Amino acid sequence: MTGDAFFKTVSHFFPKLTKWLQSVDDPRNKNKIIYEPSHLLWLGIFLFLLRLGSKRKIKYKLATEDFLKNLNQLCTGYSENVAHHDTVEYLLQRLEPEELYGVRQKMVNRLIRMKALEKYRLLEEYYMIAVDGTGHLMFKERHCPHCLTKKKDGKILYYYHNVLEAKLVTGTGLALSVETEFIQNSDGETKQDCELNAFYRMAKRLKRRFPQLKICLLLDSLYAAGPVIDISEEYGWKYITVFKRGSMPERYEEFCQLKKLCPENEIELANDKASQKYSWVGDIDHKGNYFDVIELNEAALDKKTRFVWLTNFKVGKKNIIKIAKGGRLRWKIENEGFNIQKNRGFNLEHPYSQDEISMKNLYLLLQIAYILSQLMEKGSLLKHKIQKVFGSVTMLFEQLLEDLRTKSVGVNFSNKPIQIRLSSFP
Ligand SMILES: [Zn+2]
Repeated sequence: MTGDAFFKTVSHFFPKLTKWLQSVDDPRNKNKIIYEPSHLLWLGIFLFLLRLGSKRKIKYKLATEDFLKNLNQLCTGYSENVAHHDTVEYLLQRLEPEELYGVRQKMVNRLIRMKALEKYRLLEEYYMIAVDGTGHLMFKERHCPHCLTKKKDGKILYYYHNVLEAKLVTGTGLALSVETEFIQNSDGETKQDCELNAFYRMAKRLKRRFPQLKICLLLDSLYAAGPVIDISEEYGWKYITVFKRGSMPERYEEFCQLKKLCPENEIELANDKASQKYSWVGDIDHKGNYFDVIELNEAALDKKTRFVWLTNFKVGKKNIIKIAKGGRLRWKIENEGFNIQKNRGFNLEHPYSQDEISMKNLYLLLQIAYILSQLMEKGSLLKHKIQKVFGSVTMLFEQLLEDLRTKSVGVNFSNKPIQIRLSSFP
């Protein structure tokens, strides 16, 4: 059942995925190639999708006759056995990460073109993209020339690699990776790379890869900064950014003063459990670019929470609640994005490879696997069965592993169009 759902999910959402994996520019010696790139890259995707936890398990868990039959169905050619994990690593150490960036871009574009994500847009118009950095790998010894260093009292405590992610998020809990920037030192040890610098590099690529996409960035207070506002205006992006006193002190003070002058800019909602007070201030000038500020005060039981965002949406009574709801989705990138990738079998922080290039490629394969994983979880084939039949998402993928290694799943890839709807509920 789950094996069948897996093949149906792939063929419904990404019927050309194997073709895209097959067409990566293969850097290996053409004369000696035994395994096609799609065979090896699918194994890399399965490493994460099936939550194997280490590359060695590819051989231990996946080298069965039925798994090979299933894998061959996904590939264009025919292989006589399942490749060894060293062979997967050999390709990943040589493959340009740009190739996998390209595969992911095609996947995201396909979802957008088939309108699978349309109903989740903010104000029926903007795809919400949350941007945030996270820890990736940590080493006691210097691992490569690009390691970041954590120092205390002039002494190096450890070496590490961080990553900046842009994920398309929805109110139903999807967090689909659309862009990645590795935070790393490029000029040796003198200057540490940082999240904001990585954002400026990432923004250019995001615009180049999705030039027409209507985007609203969801950002934390680190991004309440002039250059981020300028870039967003230049690229035609909307933004909703957490606004704290420290981030732009003069503008923040201005907001506090202006708020007193417009008490009419206010909406209050309340039921017997909670109350929300929304207020806003329009047209704060930052060097010729204007933004509005939203404040939300929420009281539930004995807990009071205050949120403040700055945004280049023109805020008013009609849209303030929806915009604030969008702003609150930012935490999805941490919860549905990073925490799950770190803790639920994906082992984001596990050094699957020490090699500089391979570790980037593995990171990108993890993102591709996680897109497939979420579409299976939220798709109408399995969604309602997760609690009742499997008990949890983890069990669902344990069952998928069992199905793929012990049953040959005969799916006719080309004929019957099937319909998979994505859930409207979290
Ligand atoms: Zn390193």
